[in-house]
Amino acid sequence: MTQTNYLWSPPPVYSLPVHGSKARYPVNRIFCVGRNYHAHAIEMGVPVDKTTAQPFYFTKAASTLVESGATVPYPTGTANYHHEMELVVAIGAPGFRVTESDAEHLIYGYAPGLDMTRRDLQLVAREQGRPWDLGKDFELSAVCGEIVPIGNLGLLASGALTLDVNGQRRQTSDLSQLIWSIPELIADLSKFYHLQPGDLIYTGTPEGVGAVKSGDKLSGHIDHVGDIELTIGAAE
Ligand code: MN
Repeated sequence: MTQTNYLWSPPPVYSLPVHGSKARYPVNRIFCVGRNYHAHAIEMGVPVDKTTAQPFYFTKAASTLVESGATVPYPTGTANYHHEMELVVAIGAPGFRVTESDAEHLIYGYAPGLDMTRRDLQLVAREQGRPWDLGKDFELSAVCGEIVPIGNLGLLASGALTLDVNGQRRQTSDLSQLIWSIPELIADLSKFYHLQPGDLIYTGTPEGVGAVKSGDKLSGHIDHVGDIELTIGAAE
């Protein structure tokens, strides 16, 4: 058997723990939904009218993943590093142009996630019509908890979502407040991408996003799904 001779070691397979299993979930792509709770869209100054708007997305590289419980350094290039607590949908079967009624068959499970954001850089990009990558797709920015297999959970349509910083409540909402529901998002994304097992969908954050600083301890919860923890370390 021939072995490929790479110039240097290729990147690892990025993966996440699965609740109740020793197997790990290998991550392919990370899609993130922008403005998917009305109160958050309003706090960002861009209200959403679902009758005319379409969902929109940005991506993060799988290499930006961090597991719950980690300590991450305060990132470079920002003075306004924000938390965004989100439900993550973990895809477990391929799908292209799937209908909303078939969307559930694509779901492997769910996880709590934090879409950590360099808000100052994102807003500069937004105002100048530039890509959001510097604000969103940076090292250690996609925090994800243990994946809970879908089991009997079905399409989560409600459930409390909260985020505390140093024990103080910062974000609180309910999955029933999603503008585009889980099946709507899967059906829509699959018009533009061939969804694959290992694709994660960060479904958007509710209101209450805000800045964190070195030493802060973040603790998030989603009913039926679980908890996520993150500590902000010293700046690099
Ligand atoms: Mn987000």
